[in-house]
Amino acid sequence: MDAIVLATRNKGKIREFNILLQLFGLTVRSLDEFPEIGEIPETGDTFLENALIKAREVAKATGLVAVADDSGIEVDALNGAPGVYSARFAGPECDDHANNEKLLAELKDVPDEKRTARYRCVMAAVAPNGAETTTDGSYEGHIAHEYKGSGGFGYDVIFIDPESGLHAAELTPEQKHSRSHRGEAITKLLEAWPDFWEKAQA
Ligand code: IMP
Repeated sequence: MDAIVLATRNKGKIREFNILLQLFGLTVRSLDEFPEIGEIPETGDTFLENALIKAREVAKATGLVAVADDSGIEVDALNGAPGVYSARFAGPECDDHANNEKLLAELKDVPDEKRTARYRCVMAAVAPNGAETTTDGSYEGHIAHEYKGSGGFGYDVIFIDPESGLHAAELTPEQKHSRSHRGEAITKLLEAWPDFWEKAQA
């Protein structure tokens, strides 16, 4: 069976991909199996650059097809910030709660109609022979004034899903996946996969 490697150590992402890529009969490995590969610095200015940096590095180091993603939230009232800095918005050692507090503080005086935001996700698949494909997804919503829900992660407790009016952290994993930026990017990657896989073997 052919193996690919996911350029992540995030258990949630590994689980999600495992289910999806097994559809193609692929064994999905993760960076946990390659401890010699350290943290890959996300030095790009865009989600696309960061996803490609990670996938290229891992394909080179392992000799396997590598899949990476990069994601974050863009808030219109902050001119698209925190964007690629979403994970470290409140500082390099911060956690989700510190990031959410900072975002709510920065939007303190911003009225509801101007609290529009979107999650974005870019996925990149890179083969050792240089074949590459990238896909993206976005998830439009609003930033709330208060926390709700206990599911999801990151900014989900303050991100309002427009379809249901619920915070993303109140959705079931299936509901979130069916409308999220990551779900959309994965769906598109699966569509692009047969073509990419053929080029990856050439
Ligand atoms: P990365 O893609 O692992 O680099 O994560 C980027 C950061 O964006 C995360 O740490 C979260 O803060 C935020 N983020 C990305 N996707 C989501 C999501 O689906 N829900 C909540 N926060 C997210």
